[in-house]
Amino acid sequence: LRQAVIAGNWKMNKNRAEAAELINALKPIAADKTCGVIICVPYTNLETALELTKGTNIKVGAENCHFKKSGAFTGEISADMLKEMGVEYVIIGHSERRQYFAETDLTVNRRTKAALSAGLKVILCVGEMLAEREDGITEDVVELQTVAAFTGISAEDAKNVIIAYEPVWAIGTGKTATADQAEEVCGFIRKVVANKYGKEIADGMTIQYGGSMNEKNCAELLAKEDIDGGLIGGASLVAEKFGVLLAEA
Ligand code: 13P
Repeated sequence: LRQAVIAGNWKMNKNRAEAAELINALKPIAADKTCGVIICVPYTNLETALELTKGTNIKVGAENCHFKKSGAFTGEISADMLKEMGVEYVIIGHSERRQYFAETDLTVNRRTKAALSAGLKVILCVGEMLAEREDGITEDVVELQTVAAFTGISAEDAKNVIIAYEPVWAIGTGKTATADQAEEVCGFIRKVVANKYGKEIADGMTIQYGGSMNEKNCAELLAKEDIDGGLIGGASLVAEKFGVLLAEA
């Protein structure tokens, strides 16, 4: 039906030597696993990652891209630039981008469109903040974010999107959503996708959980029907930990 995918989000970690060491340790661990395996790395590690993962089952992603093809956008990287390198995936709309870099639903939508039209696959992040969960508006928030992100995107292109549900209060805090909480929202997101694109596309879409997911708590989360893998921060930086996640998925 749909593939479980474990994606590492390295965030702003690992210099080139450290990246090479981690990837070389991951290769044999990942080799016999049946889930999809992606590592999303800082731009400066993309070349190293692409080189070292050639001929392996590890796919490489970037952590963001700009929505214009080229131009006067100092410090930005376009989707075409990533595609040309051989990058396959890109994370869009991570909550750290939304919180610290003024990313909005509009820019997330524009980046998603640009990435898809460049031929990249997208890991689209959505998730509520703690105050929003406490106010009981989690579903409204993720519905708005999801609908906004997919605005103007065809059903064919939507098939190249993985959604990562990442409650902001669970990211880097050690506070994981319970498996039931995560399942409830991932299932809800699938309904939102079904409303827009129909049941077949929704049922085929990989929807991950992310937020303090690690080698210890992953089994229960990954056992859930609507949780098709994870987007992993901290635990993706250590080969043995990431390996446990790959084995459980
Ligand atoms: P942690 O796994 O470190 O909580 O990070 C989750 C995340 O933000 C992945 O994108």
